[in-house]
Amino acid sequence: MKRTYNFNAGPAAIPTEVLEIAQKELLDFQGSGISIMEASHRAPLYENVHNEAIRLMHELYEIPEDYQVLFVQGGASTQFAMVPLNLTQGGVIEFVNTGTWSTKAIKEAKILGLQTKVVASSEESNFDHIPEGIAFSDDADYVHITSNNTIYGTQYKTYPTSKAPLVVDASSDIFSYTVDWSNIELMYAGAQKNAGPSGVTIVIIRKSLLDRVANTVPTMLRYKIHAENNSLYNTPPTFGIYLLKLTLDWIKGQGGIKAVEAVNTQKANLIYDAIDESNGFFTGHAAKDSRSHMNVVFTIQGGNPELEKEFIKLTEEAGLIGLKGHRSTGGLRASIYNAVSLEAVEALVTLMKEFAAKHA
Ligand SMILES: *Cc1c(COP(=O)(O)O)cnc(C)c1O
Repeated sequence: MKRTYNFNAGPAAIPTEVLEIAQKELLDFQGSGISIMEASHRAPLYENVHNEAIRLMHELYEIPEDYQVLFVQGGASTQFAMVPLNLTQGGVIEFVNTGTWSTKAIKEAKILGLQTKVVASSEESNFDHIPEGIAFSDDADYVHITSNNTIYGTQYKTYPTSKAPLVVDASSDIFSYTVDWSNIELMYAGAQKNAGPSGVTIVIIRKSLLDRVANTVPTMLRYKIHAENNSLYNTPPTFGIYLLKLTLDWIKGQGGIKAVEAVNTQKANLIYDAIDESNGFFTGHAAKDSRSHMNVVFTIQGGNPELEKEFIKLTEEAGLIGLKGHRSTGGLRASIYNAVSLEAVEALVTLMKEFAAKHA
């Protein structure tokens, strides 16, 4: 069997080893004679998987004990509303606007009638960089950033520091590098880019924030309820959490997050070098110091639709999929999450170089 090289932006590649284990265990999970999907979420068979996923997250991502890992549903998009509902204290929420997802997060806080302030933005230059010298107010209720901008291909190299609690939407770069928890109070991520399948949303929250929630917030939207019930208040997305657990096992098998980070850097550098060495045949969307290691966004000849179409056709014939750019930027996008192999990236870079040599 030949696996396609998958550069999809999300849902995205899942390690082949993870899928093989899931396949092997599908009809008979650990001698139970049933699939893990068919197990009660209140029975030890499933609970062990659930708790092991949480334990592995603490171990591999070095999450301190005063933080709680939660599994919720509704995608990162539901977090755009759930975060303000749980953390507002009636004051101002500050945002850095670095693209479509930040914009949507701001919109949800506004729908709730809360005061929002955009302290920095890269909107005027089509979100091609992460703003510098970001200065948050000390007395904001919380501040919000999008660590990796999936659509525009930009990424923070270090998170801005802030006295107000820092909330990070890490949907497209969770588990791709180690983070400094001393500066983060809440992180959330839909699992479908870097951590498994869609349907599971990860929330990592400092426990001291759980009590902020007002009585008027509906039960299912309260972090505190999910925390008190170990994310088993209602039926969690059990199969997705199982695949997340297998993905964490896989990261551990790769040597942990630092080892995965090193390969991610190598992969990203291969593509960016091909762009930089193409004498302008390829152009990256992101400013060099804001380049994402997860989503490489670029054009051919500054946006030549015929050549871009031809290149995408060529990649598809060679068994590489998902390289068409998002409509906001045009061109191409290579999403090279943890599960995308160095081999897949090398195949792409070979095609880029051949194509440039032929058409430049
Ligand atoms: C994909 C994405 C989202 C939206 O995720 P859903 O799970 O589809 O709601 C939010 N933020 C970022 C950074 C993303 O990449």
